[in-house]
Amino acid sequence: MGRGIMAALLAAFVAVLACAASPAHAQLSNLGAGQTGRALSVCVLRARPGDDPARLIRTPQRFDCTTKQTSFGPGDYWVISSPIGRRSPPHDPLVARVGSVWQQSLSLYVLYADGRLAAMHDDNRGITRRIQIGAIVEHQLPPHPAAVRRLMWKVGGSANLRGIVMGPRLATWAESQRSNLAMSAIYAGFGGLALALLVYNLALWASLRYRFQLAYCLMVAALLAYAFTSSGALAWAWPDIANNDRLRLNYLLLTLACSSALLFARAFFEEHVFGPRLRLLIRATVIILLATGLFFVLFAPVGVNVVDRVYSWVFAGVIVSVVATLWSAWRSRSNYLWVFAIAWALPILAASMRVFANLGLIRWNFWLDNSTILSMAAEALISSVAIAYRIRLLSRERDSAIAAEAVARRLADTDPLTGLLNRRAFLASAIGREGPQTLLILDLDHFKQVNDTLGHDGGDEVLRVVARTLRALAPPSTLVARIGGEEFAVVTSMSQPIDPNVVLTRLRATRMPFDLRVTASIGTATGALAAEAHWKSLYRAADTALFAAKSAGRDRARTAPLAA
Ligand code: GH3
Ligand code: MG
Ligand code: MG
Repeated sequence: MGRGIMAALLAAFVAVLACAASPAHAQLSNLGAGQTGRALSVCVLRARPGDDPARLIRTPQRFDCTTKQTSFGPGDYWVISSPIGRRSPPHDPLVARVGSVWQQSLSLYVLYADGRLAAMHDDNRGITRRIQIGAIVEHQLPPHPAAVRRLMWKVGGSANLRGIVMGPRLATWAESQRSNLAMSAIYAGFGGLALALLVYNLALWASLRYRFQLAYCLMVAALLAYAFTSSGALAWAWPDIANNDRLRLNYLLLTLACSSALLFARAFFEEHVFGPRLRLLIRATVIILLATGLFFVLFAPVGVNVVDRVYSWVFAGVIVSVVATLWSAWRSRSNYLWVFAIAWALPILAASMRVFANLGLIRWNFWLDNSTILSMAAEALISSVAIAYRIRLLSRERDSAIAAEAVARRLADTDPLTGLLNRRAFLASAIGREGPQTLLILDLDHFKQVNDTLGHDGGDEVLRVVARTLRALAPPSTLVARIGGEEFAVVTSMSQPIDPNVVLTRLRATRMPFDLRVTASIGTATGALAAEAHWKSLYRAADTALFAAKSAGRDRARTAPLAA
């Protein structure tokens, strides 16, 4: 991948993270997900003791429609909708849907055209029971013959982190059901995928035992748990939990997911990517992230606004670690940066689109609404492929190491001049052979003279020719070695003997450099070769026979009498 592309990708990544993680844009409660029906515009009024809802809902002019909700700060609020003018029929009643946010209590007042006022009150637990998939708080508007005129929410103890009433929408019950079905399908798809990846990679880890596999499993498990709490599925599984507690858990799991993603990057890249300072930075970031998650869980009930701000800034700080890691991976020419970049390309793209949508540059749509979960799925899936690639490169490295080791061993075992076994390897293989063995020692005659005639290089060539001749005559399981300067040894089992005279005849007939006549003398001996001591006596016997051959005039073979 080109340096330019990589640098651009890095820059985009940094920019998007900076925007996405800055407190103003932090989106913890999956807002936007599961949007259905028609958006409602709303106006806000700070609640005071003694407020009468029946009068307030009839005097919408008292509400502030221009100030941004977040400018009001935390507290108790009335939030009134624009006029509605739709009936809520019994067969398909209307529902009011808002994003789940941090608050203590929530009431909804419904004013009908005939003057009837209906009200629903929920404490924090009651809110949980209204949560739909996509973390939407939904109220069904009681069916009534007259049209609905207005809605008015009373929010008690709003933290107002991103708003008091978030993304209010009016939908029909059927639309809500369709949204729930679509959202359930998306989350179930992600859940199934994550579960399969988790089980499969755990099983693979059990046999391969690479650390990055475990880090990956941790990351997928954390993403799964995060999706479970942020989707609101937890509210269905555990309707008795207070909604704020669900949010606390969600915040904690987000730090866990983020830490495990960092740990995965730490384990995934090659070790040389991480210097001591980067290692320290990542460790510190992970510890701070987890501590921040715990901090949120413990102290959000005391002062969620301050705690949330700290939380957001810590996430912005995580960018430093991420950028440092990617930068270092790029600088140290990591083999894995490009797969890593591909795996994160979709989450980055999704985050940028969400930032653009937040800024009003592009319109929200269904895919954008659910881009978090979809890009999490893509990230988990592609990372799993990245792992396969990592393992492939690792095993290729290992295979070539094994091959190199085999080559090295062969080099250590062979005589470089002739390619035969050297003395050490020969002894290692010869000693310990079962049954009686015949040792043949061949020594070239007057080799000093050969050297004198042909020069040292010519002598070397003669040695190579002799080696080839011996190798060609010996059966495959025979050990053939050059055990000294111009001294060769052959070990055969008694069942596959070589006739020394055949060797000598062949040698005489073999054409030598400059047609020089080269002969050899051979001594053979037969006996056990099971232990080191056997070798010594066998060699002594063969050497004695060789000496006898030399003394008798050379160019002949002698056999030692069978050892006692
Ligand atoms: P003999 O018939 O009694 O064995 O006579 P010889 O000349 O072969 O006896 P000796 O063992 O004294 O000499 C061996 C010679 O082999 C001496 C040495 O220069 C030569 N030689 C040993 N290793 C090499 C080698 O690797 N290459 C060459 N070209 N010559 C070698
Ligand atoms: Mg010799
Ligand atoms: Mg010799």
